[in-house]
Amino acid sequence: MSENKYYNIITYGCQMNEHDSERLAGMLEEMGYQHTDELADADIILLNTCIIRENAELKVFGKLGELKQYKRENSDLIIGIGGCMMQQDEPVDEVYKKYRHVDLIFGTHNIHHLPNLIKKIEETRDRVVEVWDEEEGLIPDLPSQRESEHSAWISIIQGCDNFCTYCIVPYVRGRERSRPVESIVDEAKRLAEDGVKEITLLGQNVNSYGNDLDKEITFPKLLEELNKVEKLKRIRFMTSHPRDFSDALLENIKKLDKLANHIHLPVQSGSNKVLKEMNRGYTREYYIERVKKIQEEIPGAAVSTDFIVGFPGESEEDFEKTIELVKELNFDMAYTFIYSQRSGTPAARRDDQVEEEVKKERLKRLMDLQNKISYDKNQKLIGTTQEILVTGPSNNDPEVYEGRTSTNKICFIEKNEELIGEIVEVKIEAAKSWTLEGTVI
Ligand code: SAM
Ligand code: SF4
Repeated sequence: MSENKYYNIITYGCQMNEHDSERLAGMLEEMGYQHTDELADADIILLNTCIIRENAELKVFGKLGELKQYKRENSDLIIGIGGCMMQQDEPVDEVYKKYRHVDLIFGTHNIHHLPNLIKKIEETRDRVVEVWDEEEGLIPDLPSQRESEHSAWISIIQGCDNFCTYCIVPYVRGRERSRPVESIVDEAKRLAEDGVKEITLLGQNVNSYGNDLDKEITFPKLLEELNKVEKLKRIRFMTSHPRDFSDALLENIKKLDKLANHIHLPVQSGSNKVLKEMNRGYTREYYIERVKKIQEEIPGAAVSTDFIVGFPGESEEDFEKTIELVKELNFDMAYTFIYSQRSGTPAARRDDQVEEEVKKERLKRLMDLQNKISYDKNQKLIGTTQEILVTGPSNNDPEVYEGRTSTNKICFIEKNEELIGEIVEVKIEAAKSWTLEGTVI
């Protein structure tokens, strides 16, 4: 056991990475380490990295440079780096050669080996590199040091088989592996007993859940099982691939009372030519039909999406198709990204890359339009009553508390510690593009 020893984990990227960091923290706590917010007090600092876009990588290298000072002050400090970036040869080489203060490099497939890797370093003080090229089935269930007491992530499927031509994820997270239904339901029950009110099921494509299992279990059936878990109040899931968003899933969202009224359905582009070249497996018309069906059949449901602008070969006409789609579908929210060349992916090898300036200009046009739509939609909520799960102080102002509506909108309320973890009714009094404000009734 490591007594009076402290750790800090710096996480980049998506919810999967944040959840992996909770599991890294869980293992460190089992080893006797305690969390500290102060890097200067830490005996172990881990970076959990992201490689989805170039700027994510640049941030990691910047942080690694900063960490050198802590190693100078404390030569016993262990600095480790893991996550998606470390599943690629080039960044591993660069870290190993140029950042000599890094003691440990590990990948996404062997996070469960962290305790052994740390013990090895503690005993030998050698630098350790352990990155597996391939996944060995599912990463086993691991202890988690959860960020929130009231909402929790549950990983239901690891990896991705889709190979969208711009995306690095299948190369760094491996093939799809579904977790057995019993293990997911057991975790949900344990979390609910511990006071968790809301769970978010995680996977790169949750709709593929079960395809690799022998049994007759599908994602909609998994939702039925989870809806039965007592004390649980809300179930969210992300991400859904539009191609696999079935009518059976839509019916269950309508039918199951605990399912949140929010669907994140990344479209990426409104142009059929671009969608085909992205290997997304659906057309613009199909996508529009799916979203309209959701909006018509689930009253009040919020739909959000992701866009990539400046995919290789994207013409002004293609981009206009995206703009038209946004106008037609009135999304509640959208994450908009500039296409980033990821080495090893088919799109990165194309010689018709879009100029940076053009990409930036398209991004701005798209963001301006979506912000206006989100603003108008949120303004219509003023005067309505919404249920929010109060999570605690907001990031920017500890005197203001926040929670999320079933439709996944952030809502600010007055500070009230007693409400943390409660689902309360709020009268909405103000609204911006990304947030609401209200008073608890
Ligand atoms: N699996 C999910 C899906 O298919 O929508 C999302 C996974 S990815 C972590 C989240 C988002 O990052 C994607 O929806 C896409 O918009 C964006 N993304 C992925 N690769 C990208 C790239 N090379 N450049 C810019 N954005 C990218
Ligand atoms: Fe990447 Fe496409 Fe898989 Fe999503 S579905 S993780 S975008 S390859």
